[in-house]
Amino acid sequence: MKIFCIGRNYVDHAKELNNQVPKQPLVFMKPPTALLRNNDPFYIPEFSEDVHYELELVLKIKKNGKYIQPAFTKDYYESIALGIDFTARDLQSKLKEKGHPWEIAKGFDNSAALSSFVNLPTEENIKFQLFKNDVLVQDGSSQDMIFNFDTLIVHISKFFTLQQGDLIYTGTPAGVGPVSIGDHLVGTLQGQTLFDFYIK
Ligand code: ZN
Repeated sequence: MKIFCIGRNYVDHAKELNNQVPKQPLVFMKPPTALLRNNDPFYIPEFSEDVHYELELVLKIKKNGKYIQPAFTKDYYESIALGIDFTARDLQSKLKEKGHPWEIAKGFDNSAALSSFVNLPTEENIKFQLFKNDVLVQDGSSQDMIFNFDTLIVHISKFFTLQQGDLIYTGTPAGVGPVSIGDHLVGTLQGQTLFDFYIK
C-alpha cells in the first residue's frame, strides 16, 4: 500500500508558506508505517520543535491502474476520508533550503493521521474543517484545489501504478499551524465529524 501526498494544492496555502503556485502537482510519498488510525493520539516526536497539522481530503484507490486517462478516473475512487499530514516544519525548512529530500520531515511514524472512510459526497464542492481546541483553524473547499482529484489520478498514474488501497492525501488549504501537547483535533467533512483525537 502506498501513500501519496500532494504539496501546495491550494493557492492560499502555497502563499502562506511563501511557495510558488506549482504548474504540475507536487507529489511525495509516506511509508505505510506513517499511518495513524482509530483516533489514536499523536505523540510529538523528540526530533522536532515545530510539528504542524495539515488537514487534507484523502482518496482511497479502489482498483489497480496505470496511465489512467481522464475519461476513466472516476472509476478509481468512491470513498473519501480526512487526514492530517503532520509535518516537522523545522526539519522541512532546513531540508528545503539545501534542496534535499524532505522524507524525514513528512514521512515519519504516525505522520499520516487517517479518519474512517465515507462515500464520496455527491456535491461537487466538498467542505471540510479542522477545529483545534474547539477553534476553527482550517476551512477548506475542494473547489479551491489547484489540481482536482481527476487531474491528480492522471498525473500520479503516469509515474506509479496505482493499486487498490493506495491513498492520496490531496493537499491542505490555508491555516496550517503548530500542535502542542494536550491539543484536541476534530475534523469534519460536510459537517460530519470523522476524526477526534489528542496530541500527546
Ligand atoms: Zn500536506
